[in-house]
Amino acid sequence: MLPEQAYALIFAPHPDDAEGGIGGTMVRWAREGKPIVLVICTNGDKGTNDPKIKPADLVKIREAEQRTAAECMGVREVIFLGHPDQSLQDEPGFRRELARLIRLYRPEVVATTDPGRRYMTHPDHRTTGRVVLDAVSLYSHNLYAFPELYFEEGLELHRTKEMLLWGADAPNCCLDITDTFDAKMSALHCHISQFGQPSPERSKRMRERYKQQAEKEEFELGESLHRVQMMGPPPPPPATPPPAER
Ligand SMILES: [Zn+2]
Repeated sequence: MLPEQAYALIFAPHPDDAEGGIGGTMVRWAREGKPIVLVICTNGDKGTNDPKIKPADLVKIREAEQRTAAECMGVREVIFLGHPDQSLQDEPGFRRELARLIRLYRPEVVATTDPGRRYMTHPDHRTTGRVVLDAVSLYSHNLYAFPELYFEEGLELHRTKEMLLWGADAPNCCLDITDTFDAKMSALHCHISQFGQPSPERSKRMRERYKQQAEKEEFELGESLHRVQMMGPPPPPPATPPPAER
C-alpha cells in the first residue's frame, strides 16, 4: 500500500543540511498542516576531524540528532538512505532510489541543495542536487527510465509541480521565516556533533544572515531559494489536420 501523500519531499545530502537551507519554510508548512517527508542521503560518518570519534558511533549520534531536529520542525517522517559520507555518485542505483521515493510519496514540492553552486560546495551536495533535479525532471515520470518501478512495484508516474533549491548562487525568491526562525534555530541546535553547543552569538549571527536575505522583502527574516516551476504534462498530440481545401 502507498504511504500518505507528502506535500513536500526534502532531499538532504547529510543530516543538518535541510535545517540550514529550508528549515524555516519546513516549519511553516508543518504549521499549515502540510505533510513533510525528509530524506537524508548519506549517514554523515565523515563529519568530524576528531580522531577519538569512531565513524560508526558518529552515524548513530547524527541519526539521533536528525530525528530530534525533525521533531522540532514538525516533519512527519525521516528516511535515512544510509550511503557512506562522500560516496554519492550520479549512477543508476541512486537515480532509481530517488525516483522511487518521488513516485512513492507523490509530492507537490521537492526541495534540495542547488547543484549549480560554483566553487564552494561538497561533492555530495553537487550529486544530490543533480540527481534530484534529474529525477524530478525525468526519471519520476518516464515509464522506461526504471520500468520495474511500474511493472513490478506498481508505482505510477509522478510529476512534481515545483522545485526549491537552497544554497543557490542566483536565488529568485525569498520565503518568509520571521515567525519560524526560532524553530529553525532549535532544529539546527540539535546537531551538536556538527555545530557544538548552541550559543547566543550564533543565533544572533544567523538572525543577521536571514535578515540580509530578506532585505528586499516586506518581512524581516527570509530563506533565499531558487524556485523552478516544472513543466506540466506533455501536450496532447495535434488533432488530425482537416483536408486541405481546394
Ligand atoms: Zn552537507
